[in-house]
Amino acid sequence: MRFSRAFIPTLRDDPAEADTISHKLLLRGGFIRRVASGIYEWLPLGLRVLKKVEGIVREEMNAIAGQEVLLPVVQPKELWEQSGRWQKYGKELLRIKDRKDAEFCLSPTAEEVITTLVARNVRSWRSLPLMLYQIGTKFRDEIRPRFGLLRGREFIMKDAYSFHADEADAERYYDEIKGAYCKVFDRLGLKYRAVEAETGPIGGSFSHEFMVLAETGEDLIVYCTGCDYAANLERAECGENGVQSSTSDVPGPEDFATPGLYSVEDVAKFLKTEKNRFVKTLFYWADAKKPVVCLLRGDHELNEAKLRRALKAGDLKRMEEAEYEKLCGAPVGFAGPQGLSARAKKTNAEAVVIGDHAVKTVTDGVSGANKKDFHTQHLQYGRDFDADLFADLRLAMEGDACPRCGKGNLAFLRGIEVGHVFKLGTKYSVALEANYLDPQGKAKPMIMGCYGIGVSRIVATAVEQSSDKDGIIWPRTMAPYQIIVTAIDITKDERIRKEAESIYEGLKAAGLEVLLDDRDEQAGVKFKDADLLGIPLGVRVSSRTLKDNQAELKLRNGAPKRVPLAEAAAQAQSELANYRL
Ligand code: ATP
Ligand code: MG
Repeated sequence: MRFSRAFIPTLRDDPAEADTISHKLLLRGGFIRRVASGIYEWLPLGLRVLKKVEGIVREEMNAIAGQEVLLPVVQPKELWEQSGRWQKYGKELLRIKDRKDAEFCLSPTAEEVITTLVARNVRSWRSLPLMLYQIGTKFRDEIRPRFGLLRGREFIMKDAYSFHADEADAERYYDEIKGAYCKVFDRLGLKYRAVEAETGPIGGSFSHEFMVLAETGEDLIVYCTGCDYAANLERAECGENGVQSSTSDVPGPEDFATPGLYSVEDVAKFLKTEKNRFVKTLFYWADAKKPVVCLLRGDHELNEAKLRRALKAGDLKRMEEAEYEKLCGAPVGFAGPQGLSARAKKTNAEAVVIGDHAVKTVTDGVSGANKKDFHTQHLQYGRDFDADLFADLRLAMEGDACPRCGKGNLAFLRGIEVGHVFKLGTKYSVALEANYLDPQGKAKPMIMGCYGIGVSRIVATAVEQSSDKDGIIWPRTMAPYQIIVTAIDITKDERIRKEAESIYEGLKAAGLEVLLDDRDEQAGVKFKDADLLGIPLGVRVSSRTLKDNQAELKLRNGAPKRVPLAEAAAQAQSELANYRL
């Protein structure tokens, strides 16, 4: 491609709308433009990068027997009602009406459509397993679209779905697809980690997120410094470590006045003591009807996903103050675990008190007194308070002992989720009647898995991971062009044009993607643009290099080096092979 003919509208300055490095550089380099909040146009250079990512994803999906399909973006309400998600999905699902008032949604994912397709067309165990995937537009009306391509409303996703005759085969394939994902991210030159993620009702380790490590990431990755345990924060387990309390030498509970002191912080300050001596009480409704009192140590925070899982609840909602007062007899800030289970059950027989394991370590504890303006001290677990059941309920913290190896400590890293693999089980096959006949002729629901990759998000992620003050540094496999031939003073000297064209043609003939900067621009402008665009290798030809019968090669992340003109094309190819990214 000749730069003089190319549509590459670069910007000199940082656009005000851009809030991360990738957003800024992709706009400045003329890769994308914004049309509306979270909705972008892909310009020629951006599309070339996107197609590179798609190509690698496609190859690796095909390598594990995936077959590509293309499903509609506009999907009928009926299918989404059948799965129950028309009601459950919430506002991220953009719903629209056609001229006959029939309702549709824009696909945020495609379980309903693909499961129906398979239900209608696959009958026998002989056709399983089957993996179908697509690469295409998704729409999610995100509450806060931001960071350009990282969290768009319209974006490109690869979504794959597999159908199996039994659990064992679905689990075998789960490992296979994880392996394929590693190949994709390795080939894209990304630094990433696969971490355990929330599985919902399925349980087991059958949901992993692939996180690219980046300081700007919105997700927290929890990992062990001593073993290979890694999970997202929502999923990260906390061991049952810590000493069990003993009842021997702590005096009996004693109430003390704390008017106006509501929070653990306030009371801890007042007592000049640590937050880990406190027991906090949190009040929830599980599935809108069952009152739940949750006990946590004062220095810990609740992980709602864990509470939901422990209660096998679909939905959790914080209780209003008036309802909460009825259960414990005190206003917000003064509830405590003493006698709480019995008291709550008197008000509502279904009430349950659930404690995080760590509250068992509280010796000589402090809590609200279930009485306005009073707290209680010298509380002992087992002697003065208990719970109906215990579970791992809290958010993991940096420095916690590893729940797996017990030796290492947990540490946090920031990441960007670029992929998600998930064993779905029979949730959609039952709802949408995707059954097959087994060898005995018996109908059984197919076991499913679904596997996503954020194709457009990856483009931005690569830039988050690799850039410098001058611009993008693309990994070789993602670069829009591998080489830029920069001809300086091309309009002034015919020999420069001739030599630059000859190198350009030679490289193209060798199968490389080459951009020839033949514009009538100053050398400085050309070099700046080449850096901004992040093209791995530059070949420069100027009157100065030609004087010595040479050209100059410069890797995007390296120093310039002179080579004989006759060898320029060949050397460029070997130089490119040494490119680190
Ligand atoms: P997130 O937690 O970031 O919202 P998600 O859990 O909703 O992601 P999935 O439903 O698993 O995402 O979708 C599969 C992949 O699609 C994600 O791993 C991510 O890479 C990508 N993705 C999801 N939402 C967006 C978005 N709004 N913009 C760009 N890519 C997205
Ligand atoms: Mg999301």
